[in-house]
Amino acid sequence: MNDDTVRLRFAAHGGVKPSYDGRNVWVCCPFCVERGETPDTRFRLGLHLKTGQGHCFNCGWKTRDWRGELGLDVALATEDKPEEPTCDERWPPEGADPVWEASPRDKWGWTALQYLASRDISREEAARWQVHWTPVGRFRYRVLFPVPGTTRKATGFMGRSFVGGEPKYLASHGKKGLWNFLPGRKRVILSEGVFKAARIQRLCSRSGQSIALLGASVSEEHAGMLADARVREVLLWPDPDIAGCNMVLRGAEILEEYGLQVRVPIPAPDEPADEAKMSELGETLGAMRKFCLASRVWYRGLKDEFGRMSCE
Ligand SMILES: [Zn+2]
Repeated sequence: MNDDTVRLRFAAHGGVKPSYDGRNVWVCCPFCVERGETPDTRFRLGLHLKTGQGHCFNCGWKTRDWRGELGLDVALATEDKPEEPTCDERWPPEGADPVWEASPRDKWGWTALQYLASRDISREEAARWQVHWTPVGRFRYRVLFPVPGTTRKATGFMGRSFVGGEPKYLASHGKKGLWNFLPGRKRVILSEGVFKAARIQRLCSRSGQSIALLGASVSEEHAGMLADARVREVLLWPDPDIAGCNMVLRGAEILEEYGLQVRVPIPAPDEPADEAKMSELGETLGAMRKFCLASRVWYRGLKDEFGRMSCE
């Protein structure tokens, strides 16, 4: 059976979706219905290209030899090659300087460094995460965080104005991925933005990797990246608002579909992670519980409460 047949076969089910790292392909599972589940339209059957293992996160179908079992092969043709994470705006952007090297004689670099300090990011942390700033272009007068951070090749970056500019946050075009995401960790903590994740990282440097979503929601792409990197457990760290409740409710569902174990804090934090005291962050970390039906009910209730508060 050749590639074209395979493509046709899976085209009927919605096509083939390569994984982020190119090790797996995801297809809509052809077994879900016969196994008593709803038809899969969300590419929930993962096929590992090297090991031959296959697993559907919807109906639970499993094999060690999907080529044999399915009687076909899926090779990634050129147009199906996984997209290289790209940054259509070069990193570091034009005229950008490292913030951690700023001196008091350099007015704006110093202002950028002071701004980071006001958000509780030290010079050492700015160096570790390669935070830059630039006086020119679309990102002028913003502190710029490359994604995923550190010295690895940037797939994009996020800029926060340090002069009160609007919008407060501005991102490079294209896919960005997850900030501070280091493959090889079994346990990760997900929060919304870099300032939150940076403070949480300080708290959990030993127990896990603190990652910023760069937004308020967990996407299937995020979940796929984590699953591909063999993360086992994800701690969701919501903001105390409706978006935070949605992040937990929807995020847990998506992450579990990708076979990840989820923990959430109960009760939810009183303050966002970039405003809370370090002792409060410790309490939130200590309140992480395995996500279950009761946590779902609890977060639904909290979401309703926030809804009522915003109407009053
Ligand atoms: Zn299935």
